[in-house]
Amino acid sequence: MLGKLSRWLRLLGYDTTYSPRKEDNQLLYEALTQERILLTRDRELAFKGGKKAVLIESDQIFRQIDQLKKELNIKLEPQYNRCPVCNYPLENINKKEIRELVPSYTYKTHELFKICPGCSRIYWEGSHKDLINRLLNQKLGYHPEN
Ligand SMILES: [Zn+2]
Repeated sequence: MLGKLSRWLRLLGYDTTYSPRKEDNQLLYEALTQERILLTRDRELAFKGGKKAVLIESDQIFRQIDQLKKELNIKLEPQYNRCPVCNYPLENINKKEIRELVPSYTYKTHELFKICPGCSRIYWEGSHKDLINRLLNQKLGYHPEN
């Protein structure tokens, strides 16, 4: 299952759909018609997909990301522009509109908030940004620019 990988790819800004229950042919059709690359742990499905598919070799999330960095040249810079849960591009939202929806400390200490039009989750650049950067640094040697 590649649910975790799909959330990480969205964090890195990549438009990523996740469909663990779909049939092989449906997945292949969508990859072709939506110009997507099919990521799978299924050797047979990867073979059928040819150049449109990548066989994910490891069960470990950072090995998976490292493989995609090498094979698809993905960038390891977190983007925070896409909902990691449902893949919608995030929209800026006026701080005043979400006052009741975030912890008061967070409200006081942040200026920029974004909302997902799909699930209405609210995002801000909080402590998880440091955590993500640290993980990418420790596991994959990523160095943030600033
Ligand atoms: Zn969402």
